[in-house]
Amino acid sequence: MNHDNDCIFCKIVKGELPCVKVFEDSLTLAFMDISPVAPGHVLIIPKGHYPDMLSVPTGQLKAVSRSVQAVAKACGEAFAPDGINVMQANGAAAGQTVFHLHVHVIPRNRGDGLRLHIESGPSAEAAHLEAIAARLRTVFES
Ligand code: AMP
Ligand code: ZN
Repeated sequence: MNHDNDCIFCKIVKGELPCVKVFEDSLTLAFMDISPVAPGHVLIIPKGHYPDMLSVPTGQLKAVSRSVQAVAKACGEAFAPDGINVMQANGAAAGQTVFHLHVHVIPRNRGDGLRLHIESGPSAEAAHLEAIAARLRTVFES
């Protein structure tokens, strides 16, 4: 698997940086966003390093899409939100800040006041993320 030694998401894949894991399979990893814009904000990444959706091989993009759908379904089951945003940025001008392909799954509720573009909030407590991730993992285990 190709990795970039300077990439924080590659370091998460390799276990060199911690994450609050929600789900993984052979090609993808899903973990809690460290600065959630809403409770239950999850990132899905390919385990290989590809900067964005334009550079990832189609087979791995399919694997990411499969995991995105699984996480979005788990989010619906665990939190019963009014809606779910699936968002992904390519390039700094599009709001991308981490240059390892990732897809945001964000539970939404009527009147939650979130704007449609991605704006990181303050970092959440690890214990808070753990509690939310546990509810999502329950869906995958059932
Ligand atoms: P983007 O602006 O689409 O590139 O989003 C990058 C996302 O990565 C932001 O929502 C950050 O909060 C999130 N992020 C950055 N570092 C970490 C990390 N170590 N663990 C989890 N999420 C992270
Ligand atoms: Zn990477």
